[in-house]
Amino acid sequence: MAAPVIELKGVERHYEQGSRRLTILSGTNFSLTPGEMVALVAPSGAGKSTLLHTTGLLERPDGGDVIVNGRACGRLSDDQRTAIRRNDIGFVYQFHHLLPEFSALENVMMPQLVRGLKQSEASARAAQLLDYMKIGKRAQHRPAELSGGEQQRVAIARAVANAPLVLLADEPTGNLDPVTAGYVFDALSALVRQSGLAALIATHNHELAARMDRRVTLSEGKVVPLR
Ligand code: ADP
Repeated sequence: MAAPVIELKGVERHYEQGSRRLTILSGTNFSLTPGEMVALVAPSGAGKSTLLHTTGLLERPDGGDVIVNGRACGRLSDDQRTAIRRNDIGFVYQFHHLLPEFSALENVMMPQLVRGLKQSEASARAAQLLDYMKIGKRAQHRPAELSGGEQQRVAIARAVANAPLVLLADEPTGNLDPVTAGYVFDALSALVRQSGLAALIATHNHELAARMDRRVTLSEGKVVPLR
């Protein structure tokens, strides 16, 4: 089996709520290998966002470690973690979070410019990604001029603009009607397959979950196969 691109080893995550201690992740292990799409299916409040944020280095675990491409991240500085996040990890949320005053193309260029690419290079890659997501014709439009499905396509293109190793998505089609959700998922999965990305996608949509390589859920603070 291919070496994992991202690995959780004995990860702990707790929240203090008043005098109560809420355990969300309790010594969990989990890994993703290149090119695999994994569905994370669990009820609201189970800890899906916590798992995604911890995996994506947005939150630090209270114990254990997250290893990205062989590199243990627990002892790294915030700046080092930010650099790994920027280069190796892409996020998509339920709401698109695109910058309203910029076009679709500019939104997809942005992370590449932050990374230091030249304007012309960033623009060419952004156009290519939007074409791939089948919204090349909408490249010059601002988010408010796009439909919900188109906005999510742009958000997905932006998430992979810097060719990350891992894509983490929190209900990426949760705001879309079932037909649009299906089309956006088709585009997302084609992109994952073509680029060899590893993807962990939280979803309530069992039909989409069934189309991924495997399905996991959270049980007693651990990531386990969904039965
Ligand atoms: P999901 O994404 O599955 O809905 P979350 O990861 O958002 O679940 O939350 C899991 C649990 O942890 C919930 O009960 C939530 O209220 C709690 N929680 C999440 N973030 C915090 C926080 N920053 N402080 C306290 N409790 C939190």
